[in-house]
Amino acid sequence: MAACMVSTGRTRVRGYGRAVALALLVSVCGILGTRALGLPPYPGLHLLRLCRHAARTVSAAVHRRLILRRTSSWLSAGEGRLQVIYTAPDADIVPVIASYAERAWDAVARELGFSGAAVPTLILSPSFRELGHCFGEGAAASSVGMYRAGVVGMVSPRAWGGVFGRDEATDPFELYNPLHHEFCHYVLEEMTDGNCPSWFSEGVAQLMERRATGYACYDARTAGGASVLAAAPALVDLDRALYSEDGMPAAYLKSLWAAERLMSVLGRDGFGRLTGLLREGIAFDDALREVAGASCSELDREWGEWVRGALRGREGTGAKTVEQTSGGSGTLGS
Ligand SMILES: [Zn+2]
Repeated sequence: MAACMVSTGRTRVRGYGRAVALALLVSVCGILGTRALGLPPYPGLHLLRLCRHAARTVSAAVHRRLILRRTSSWLSAGEGRLQVIYTAPDADIVPVIASYAERAWDAVARELGFSGAAVPTLILSPSFRELGHCFGEGAAASSVGMYRAGVVGMVSPRAWGGVFGRDEATDPFELYNPLHHEFCHYVLEEMTDGNCPSWFSEGVAQLMERRATGYACYDARTAGGASVLAAAPALVDLDRALYSEDGMPAAYLKSLWAAERLMSVLGRDGFGRLTGLLREGIAFDDALREVAGASCSELDREWGEWVRGALRGREGTGAKTVEQTSGGSGTLGS
């Protein structure tokens, strides 16, 4: 239910198209110019970083404005750091949601070592359909949470059975809310300046969500069983599978497994160095080699070993979960 996504909807608005095209043109020229001139790597990377940052800033500003324009008639509350945009029927639950969101934000920022001053805007949508419309995903969108361009969207718990006032261990809001998950997408985008593969962002987001709420989108059984998991794409190709209907469950589970494996190897300091290198424009695999002395292909091999173990022992039982295995031994170190 809380399967969430980074919005990928395509919306074109006259007037913004030229700005985006110009930013992309500058980026492409920067990449080609750096290579053609044979500039040394660090000035070249610096130029690339500037170009990418410019493109990302323009694109984010455009999409943020589009999202907020679609909610321009809604209400707004911003007593804390987080601005919450909502509709009148949810006015009574906004203080509770805002308070929870502030705590969730602090937890995510602390866990990932994010010290930036920026915070996302939170949209509390009255329905799944309306959330999809706000993020340009269409009326068929079914995610309870979305993230894009500094804006986190969440469907009102009234629309998915969340209630307040029960014991925290059983309250559906505490279990299914996507706030930790979506905040992670924002933090990773900020920490890497957008240079982060989607599988790593989805994996870390699921990991933080599970730690905070106990909820996980999939386990080995619900993701299709070991034979399906064995066919999951390599990490370098996993981003496309994340957003395909057939491949999504296995891709989500593999991204969670890989993120948990990496976080156990890197620790908080290593994670900070990894995101720092990504921010500099280093490719993920190169950054991983520098920080952990390992590569994505080694992670793929470990994934295969885990899947074969599941296939031999407990396929179809759903009893063997990622968290029981990903901290195990492997050549990636620990
Ligand atoms: Zn997500």
